[in-house]
Amino acid sequence: MSVHTLGTGGGPIVSSSRAGTSTAVRVDGTTYLFDCGMGSIRNYRRHADWGDLRAVFLTHHHSDHIYDLGSYLTTGWQVPGESFSAPIDLYGPGRPSRIPAMDGDHERALADQLKGRSLSSTTDIVDSLLDKVFASDIAIRMADERRTEPHEWIRAHNIEIPDAAGADAVDNRHPEMEPFVVYTDELVTISAILVDHRLCFPAFGFRIDSKYGSVAISGDTAYSTNCIKLANNVDLLLHEVIDLPAILSTFPDGPTRDGIEVHLRESHTSYMDVGQVARLSGAKSLVLHHVVPNTPGAADLTTMLSAVRKDYDSEVVIAEDNDVYRIRPSVTAVSDVVAQSVGAVEATV
Ligand SMILES: [Zn+2]
Repeated sequence: MSVHTLGTGGGPIVSSSRAGTSTAVRVDGTTYLFDCGMGSIRNYRRHADWGDLRAVFLTHHHSDHIYDLGSYLTTGWQVPGESFSAPIDLYGPGRPSRIPAMDGDHERALADQLKGRSLSSTTDIVDSLLDKVFASDIAIRMADERRTEPHEWIRAHNIEIPDAAGADAVDNRHPEMEPFVVYTDELVTISAILVDHRLCFPAFGFRIDSKYGSVAISGDTAYSTNCIKLANNVDLLLHEVIDLPAILSTFPDGPTRDGIEVHLRESHTSYMDVGQVARLSGAKSLVLHHVVPNTPGAADLTTMLSAVRKDYDSEVVIAEDNDVYRIRPSVTAVSDVVAQSVGAVEATV
């Protein structure tokens, strides 16, 4: 079982040093992909083949987590000898029944502000990509190159949140709940839980359990008690992190900056808090990704690490793109999980 950081940058800012958030988890040669950030598909090529890909999981619908989705779907369908070897399954948020809002007053204000705009589900997004965005390309290739119907290769599913959670887009976006299984096969069981990404609802964290060990992926979230539960005694917790002062210093003053400051402060996890999440969950190792700011040298990684280590005394690293972290059942020392893995990509592909 291995974790491959295909993209470690957070946010919709194009970085020359980090692709957008995307992670591959590989088990016995089969690949499970979590999010499809900008530029990550080029790194996928270094770690796995299209024929290895079995399932894709989207934590939420922010653009920086789905920019490359169309590339993954159409490329996997198109390249002779390199295409999907079997239909792939894709799981992500459904469309909430209400526009997410802080409360009823906010909901009414948004109805006026958004002027009829609506949200989409994961199946809506995939249908739009295949039937609208790439409709001409797909029809022409089907006619010209005898390609087969892409919907037969790509099966999209909206993740159903258990009713018992009592989740609601306005009144209860981060209910206390238990992880629930969204996918299982002979290699893995993948569970989800709602995390707290403010108005981006639903937003999920995922946990992957195999016979080799376990990995939790926080998704985008503020400090989340659900995420702590999701990562209970996990071998490796891959958690998002932001350096709020550093990212704010890059924005000019004004209303747009004020809005994004609230978003960043209330939707993401500061490096001051993420060590506590890892400690309380009992995670055996912590890898930080979704680094904000994502541009070269903009986040103070040294300060980040020392802050995390005040709360968490197991292994912690800040991921770079193309790191590989191996998880083996024989690992007895936590340090082995990380020490065998960081920067090992060149030796493994
Ligand atoms: Zn997000």
